[in-house]
Amino acid sequence: MTTQIEKAERFLALHQGPEPLLLPNPWDIGSAKLLASLGFSALASTSGGFAATLGRPDGHVTRGEALMHASNLVEATNLPVSADLENCFADDPETVAETVALAIEAGLTGCSLEDFTRDEDKPIYDLPGFPDILAGQFCEHLKQQMQPAQPNLVLGDRVVHVEGEPGAMRCHTESGRVLESAAVLLAGGKGAFKPRRPGIDGAEPYEGKSLFLSVPKAVDWSGKRIVVQGGGDSALDWAVRLVELGAEVTLVHRRASFRAHARTVARFRALSGSGRARMLVPATVRAVSGDEGEGRLSSLHLRTPDGELDLPTDIWLAMLGVLSDAGPMADWRLGMVDGRIPVDAATLASARPGIHAVGDLVNYPGKYDLLVTGFAEAAVAVRALFPICRPGERLSHEFSTHKGVPHLPS
Ligand SMILES: Cc1cc2nc3c(=O)[nH]c(=O)nc-3n(C[C@H](O)[C@H](O)[C@H](O)COP(=O)(O)OP(=O)(O)OC[C@H]3O[C@@H](n4cnc5c(N)ncnc54)[C@H](O)[C@@H]3O)c2cc1C
Repeated sequence: MTTQIEKAERFLALHQGPEPLLLPNPWDIGSAKLLASLGFSALASTSGGFAATLGRPDGHVTRGEALMHASNLVEATNLPVSADLENCFADDPETVAETVALAIEAGLTGCSLEDFTRDEDKPIYDLPGFPDILAGQFCEHLKQQMQPAQPNLVLGDRVVHVEGEPGAMRCHTESGRVLESAAVLLAGGKGAFKPRRPGIDGAEPYEGKSLFLSVPKAVDWSGKRIVVQGGGDSALDWAVRLVELGAEVTLVHRRASFRAHARTVARFRALSGSGRARMLVPATVRAVSGDEGEGRLSSLHLRTPDGELDLPTDIWLAMLGVLSDAGPMADWRLGMVDGRIPVDAATLASARPGIHAVGDLVNYPGKYDLLVTGFAEAAVAVRALFPICRPGERLSHEFSTHKGVPHLPS
């Protein structure tokens, strides 16, 4: 058996050889063995591929899970393995270093150190005209810029069905709206993400008042009796944090084991001694009681192996993961391949007449996922859609620099 040091030396040498290093991406033990049998000299894990095996979107795997997966790949063959650990699950150098140390412990010979944060405040540096700008500020500029066109904006809804022919299309939304237009231009990105709801009858009136799917900004829940439901990193991280902030937390999870980082689980267990942290596993929420009109919970009805119980509750924090859904679009006869719509790069037309698409949702030779590319595609698509939207009219190209912007408020 080759030692980890020997593998590391071999891996380094492979980077310095005359041929480019080909690193295939196994997503489980079977594919690792298969790739090794095909003669590859090293392997690299894939965060997106592994997340998909768990039915989750990329970026929704915990550090513990990624390292356990990497260790399984290491055990599967005698090849050096480098892991896709994204940004090493941290923004601060200390935790990045800790992740690298854990990666070495897992038997890895390499790992990624991607320089990104999931921080909404991270500036964007590569938009033309803005040396750097926050995403929120950029959206404000876009809103201002779209005003002259007086768009009809529908927010917080989701298109679930598209029908019709070019010239008379209809988009049906989740809330029952029907949006009529001559053509449809899709910009659905890599799917719609939404938090998973608890799915308990009668819970809806409490949502946003005493039932939350994520922790709202600037809340003070000290002294509150909080049920945190879930077994992943978010649930455990918040369970610990809320105890530290003075809340009385009961952690409820349907299994006795957790997907969260072992250290956070241990931290919560340690807090149990404080009298303000309690773990109730395995347990499921079966029903809710409270003042529906006010949206104020009084208790959750739980089922445990020892029987049923009513748990007095002020706040129910259900952290059950997220659902990514290209789902409806997959049924729109757009010929999706690997979650993307193949389009004609010259017109951004999909396989279905009347529907064009832009941005991360589409694919064509040379496609590059950047904000600026999406905007350029939108311009090309709109020009291609002109004959459908304005039948009989001649499209004459004019720069707004010369003609001004229509309806611009003075
Ligand atoms: C971590 C990270 C960093 C990045 N940094 C940069 C950068 O610095 N510079 C850069 O140029 N690019 C960057 N990108 C790439 C850039 O963010 C994307 O190329 C761009 O956001 C794609 O825009 P889009 O409109 O196609 O999709 P998105 O921005 O993903 O928007 C799609 C929207 O459609 C919604 N949607 C989906 N389905 C439906 C439906 N059925 N009904 C209604 N709405 C729906 C989604 O909820 C979402 O709001 C980055 C990407 C990532 C992941």
